[in-house]
Amino acid sequence: MCNRPLPYDLRSPNPPRYFPFCSEKCRLVDLHKWLSEEYYITSPIETPEDEGNPSEKE
Ligand SMILES: [Zn+2]
Repeated sequence: MCNRPLPYDLRSPNPPRYFPFCSEKCRLVDLHKWLSEEYYITSPIETPEDEGNPSEKE
């Protein structure tokens, strides 16, 4: 995420803990960014208002 070259071989049979991130910090930063975008996308959520009591409409 920091565009730094990964300090290990991707073909390694034992990938690091924070793969594909270089460290926990990068992992958390990316996670936070991802969550922020997720909230932004789901912010204008459509609320179904048609699911009430049909008898109350008239
Ligand atoms: Zn990084």
